[in-house]
Amino acid sequence: MAYDCWLQCVRGCPGRYSVFEVLYHCPTCGGLLEVEHDTAALAERSAQEWRALFDERVRSNEWPYGSGVWGKKEWVLPVLDNERVVSMYEGHTNLFWAQRLGEAIGVEDLWVKLCGNSHTGSFKDLGMTVLVSVVNQMIAQGAPVRAVACASTGDTSAALAAYGAAAGIPTIVFLPRNKVSEAQLIQPIANGALVLALDTDFDGCMALVKEITQDNSLYLANSMNSLRIEGQKTVGIEIVQQFDWEVPDWIILPVGNLGNISALGKGLLLMYELGLIDRLPRLAAAQAERANPFYRSYMGGFGVAETVQAQKTVASAIQIGNPVSYERAVKVMRRFDSLVEQATESEIADAAARADLTGMYACPHTGVALAVLFKLVDRGLIASDDRVVVISTAHGLKFSQFKLDYHANSLPGIEAVRRNPPVELPADLGDVQRTIQSYLDRQGQQIAQGATNR
Ligand SMILES: *Cc1c(COP(=O)(O)O)cnc(C)c1O
Ligand SMILES: [Zn+2]
Repeated sequence: MAYDCWLQCVRGCPGRYSVFEVLYHCPTCGGLLEVEHDTAALAERSAQEWRALFDERVRSNEWPYGSGVWGKKEWVLPVLDNERVVSMYEGHTNLFWAQRLGEAIGVEDLWVKLCGNSHTGSFKDLGMTVLVSVVNQMIAQGAPVRAVACASTGDTSAALAAYGAAAGIPTIVFLPRNKVSEAQLIQPIANGALVLALDTDFDGCMALVKEITQDNSLYLANSMNSLRIEGQKTVGIEIVQQFDWEVPDWIILPVGNLGNISALGKGLLLMYELGLIDRLPRLAAAQAERANPFYRSYMGGFGVAETVQAQKTVASAIQIGNPVSYERAVKVMRRFDSLVEQATESEIADAAARADLTGMYACPHTGVALAVLFKLVDRGLIASDDRVVVISTAHGLKFSQFKLDYHANSLPGIEAVRRNPPVELPADLGDVQRTIQSYLDRQGQQIAQGATNR
């Protein structure tokens, strides 16, 4: 069965365009585009058949269906040739049962979707496999694309550079100088991209890359490009699949440019429309208080798209003041029972450290989502028997400096109450024994104090 999909305006203008066309905005109104699917054709297969097909493909060796994204190819981009797919078998990331953290906050059915356990260490891989595959097919069909380009807060450029290198497509990345982590900077360098470190912020990089890609031989890979949304939308589908097709009560995720929440909503709505699920989860979008345009828009009932000058935050990947996918995200927020909440720098750092003490290794953005989780539980919005999923967007190892600074208690304005600095001492048996004894005493006291203080 051949399924169809095409580009269409999010505001509902009538035109339909090929996904292989170099087009980021509606030619009629200038709005964003999205990939539309022929849902009538998709509905000819029953929900039961779709579930069985998707389950059968999990980690299959049959190219490219073992990928978490391409295992759902009919829903993602059916018009792509399998041999053009550029994939690192992204997706199928662990859904971590956060047992100890859940117990500590009184929500035992707490799960963390570890999207950072992926090829380049963030969920951006899910979208980039789709975008780079399409470019790969365009080039094979003779399109004059010379390179792919993006502006990035770090993770998008890492993903683009890796997938570009895997396909042999030149990559140009625009990064705000000194505003991405060391790991994020070295990733595209290692993958051979042209790395432009500019004296501006993300929004400044975005403005420049938009100018540069007016030239159609440079293909724009930012999330205004709707192809990435198609890959990223599998995250919600995959979460439900991992619960044997049961819908959780809440999904909480950190948001910046608003592509990921748009994608999450789009995937869940497609499942709902095709009858794979019979209800929708509640969504909570989490922002850093220092870069909170979406929170402000939400407080104003989404009457206006607020923009801010984003301030420096430990959650550097969401230091964005003018989110590109605002309209898409508002559509999702209105369709779901949803809210936006924000967290301070101290709350973010503390939440990440608290999670780490229960076996996680949370990046600061995951810290934003966890801090919001704690608030919603305190406020009684999340009930003790709710099933809650927190989306962890990147691997903590990409943010070693943040963790080093936390445990050295040197993050400005943050009192690192859970810090655990290394103990430096002479190679002396007595010193070592005394140090171990006092560690064990402290641990014993903490256990005696019980779970409430954890
Ligand atoms: C990109 C990114 C986000 C934000 O996703 P948006 O689609 O921009 O809202 C959050 N966390 C991390 C680690 C990211 O890389
Ligand atoms: Zn339009």
